[in-house]
Amino acid sequence: MTSFVLGAVAALALGGLGWSAVTLRRRLVHSERERRRVADELNRRLSELFSLQELSYVLSESLELERIVEQVVRYAMRFLDARGALVALASDGHGDARGLLIAGAAGTLAGLQGQTVPAEDPGVVARSLGRERLELVQSADGAPTRLLGAVEAASAAAVPLRAHGVVVGTLVVAEPRAGVFPAEDVRLLSTVATHAAIVLANARFFNQVRRAKEQWETAFDALSEGIAVVDDEGRMRRANRALALLLGAPVAEVVGQDLGAALLGDSPALGELLAAARRGQRPVPLVVRSERLRRVVRVTGARIPSAAAEHGVVVLIEDVTDQQAMETQLIQSEKLAAVGQLVSGVAHELNNPLTSIAGLSEVLLEQKELGTKDRGHLRVIHEQAERAGRIVRNLLTFARQGPAERARVDLNDVIQRTVLLMRYDLTLRDIAIEKSLGQEIPAVLGDRHALQQVMLNLLTNAAHAVSQNPPERPRVIRVATSFDDRVRVRVADSGPGIADDVVPHLFTPFFTTKEPGHGTGLGLSISYSIIESHGGHITVERPSEGGALFVIDLPAASAGAGAGELITSTPVPLPPPIKRSILLVDDDPGVRRMVKALFGREGHSVDVARNPQQAIDMARARGYDLILADIQASARGKLFVEALVEAQPALRDRTLVATGDVRPATEETLARLGLRYVRKPFNLRDLLDEAARVWAGAATLS
Ligand code: ADP
Repeated sequence: MTSFVLGAVAALALGGLGWSAVTLRRRLVHSERERRRVADELNRRLSELFSLQELSYVLSESLELERIVEQVVRYAMRFLDARGALVALASDGHGDARGLLIAGAAGTLAGLQGQTVPAEDPGVVARSLGRERLELVQSADGAPTRLLGAVEAASAAAVPLRAHGVVVGTLVVAEPRAGVFPAEDVRLLSTVATHAAIVLANARFFNQVRRAKEQWETAFDALSEGIAVVDDEGRMRRANRALALLLGAPVAEVVGQDLGAALLGDSPALGELLAAARRGQRPVPLVVRSERLRRVVRVTGARIPSAAAEHGVVVLIEDVTDQQAMETQLIQSEKLAAVGQLVSGVAHELNNPLTSIAGLSEVLLEQKELGTKDRGHLRVIHEQAERAGRIVRNLLTFARQGPAERARVDLNDVIQRTVLLMRYDLTLRDIAIEKSLGQEIPAVLGDRHALQQVMLNLLTNAAHAVSQNPPERPRVIRVATSFDDRVRVRVADSGPGIADDVVPHLFTPFFTTKEPGHGTGLGLSISYSIIESHGGHITVERPSEGGALFVIDLPAASAGAGAGELITSTPVPLPPPIKRSILLVDDDPGVRRMVKALFGREGHSVDVARNPQQAIDMARARGYDLILADIQASARGKLFVEALVEAQPALRDRTLVATGDVRPATEETLARLGLRYVRKPFNLRDLLDEAARVWAGAATLS
């Protein structure tokens, strides 16, 4: 029994052995195949991994968008063993916001490089942009698929390039050499796309940042205001060109310097401004004069928000020197205009009384029967009236807005004459005057007397200043002229200079630091308004060597200008005594009396019109040799003289206007009408001279 069992078992075992050997061999073959497949798979994966690693390495080397795109296209073609590939990038917000640009293409698609694809193009390229994942178009039936426009391919795989939730473009691979894309290759394409998208997005951010930085730097340097970024220590970390220019050093040298020291020397106020800005406050702008730069600057600052403990401050520095000077001039002009109006009103009121006092006292002085004592008294009256007249003239010059005469004036000559006038006084006070007059100084257009007055005022002030010098300090006045685009006159003195608190008031009317009786405070303000009315400027400087320096600049007269406008003041030979008939139009009884007395004494007859209308009628009825009319007389709503000349143009050459009015409008009217005039308050000589000129002119004409 036992042997039977054993035999059966053995038989079974032998029979079984034959069956299992086959199975075993089959299994072995299978497992060998499986092993090879796995090994192949492993190899393939390994090679993919190496390739991906290689791509990753290549991509990480550059941030250049073009280079990255080129590499992605090349590797995608290689990995998928395809004939063509392209990368189309979505617009990053500049230009056409929705289109695609084929930034890289190779193989059969190389010709598409640089083309743009509208977002609504029905092809795979544009379509894939809106897809979530890879789209595979395999043409089993041989029907081609459209890539973009009319461009087609038998098979293509397109995968959107998405990074940080944003689609930056699409990667398209076409025409696999094997006819179709194996599933593993398609998976690999997705991996490549993920990787490429991140690198492309980074490169794009980098480009955006770089572009923004360039734009910012260009703007930073293009600004005309100085800008600095200042650290906690007050050192400049950045500075723009305008600031470097202001500080007089190249940007590279300025960076690293202490802003306060470079700009203002030692300035606690700037330190406070920076500290306030650092605390996040909005500090009040600082307007301060930099002695170092000799400019006035306006400084503001604001904190640059930062997560770090250190807060940079951006500081804006504007050079407001010219602006300030203009503002000061404007205020000065306004002040002068207001005072000028007042002064002109007062001077007008004084004109007529002074004219008659001076004139009549002069007439009386010529009377032979006067006693010596009375003559003495009368002379004083006459001199004082003349003096008052001069003051009134000065005040009127001050109030005047435009130059009275417009002739070509040689400033060198004006200076020479003024110095000559003062020579005696200067020598007496032991004051040396050094002249350095430019050789080719063009003429200026204006009023010689007014300009001489300016020189006289400046030289008188300078002489007064140097006279206060201690004995060891020389008493020198330097006058220089030069020409660049303007004619410039510089009057410098070696006096004590001008105190800080005096400078702002220098040109203010009636401001004086001189003892009562020694200064009226009008010299500089008169000079200021004269120079302004000539289109020039007068400024004061305080030279480092001490003393005061006044600088005048005036526009040069253009060639030929003013040549014909010169109002001649050459004496006219008096005509032989002829009895003349004169018509006087002036409502001031004092003036009437004086004119009558003056011309009556010469044997002429003087008729007085009661009013301008009557004067026009009288002039028509009788041929007067001279019509002497006050400028303020008016008829028919206009100036009497204007109405007169309109009614009878022939009377123009026989009319003489007496005017205390120096407004430019009046002067223009007189010039337009071509009328001669005398300034009130006039003295007898002026009046007789002008009358003689009128008669001489009329004689030449007739
Ligand atoms: P005035 O001479 O009558 O005082 P100005 O208008 O000419 O009037 O001058 C005003 C003030 O300006 C003077 O009182 C003086 O304080 C100051 N000043 C003018 N010129 C000079 C100078 N060359 N040096 C110093 N101070 C001057």
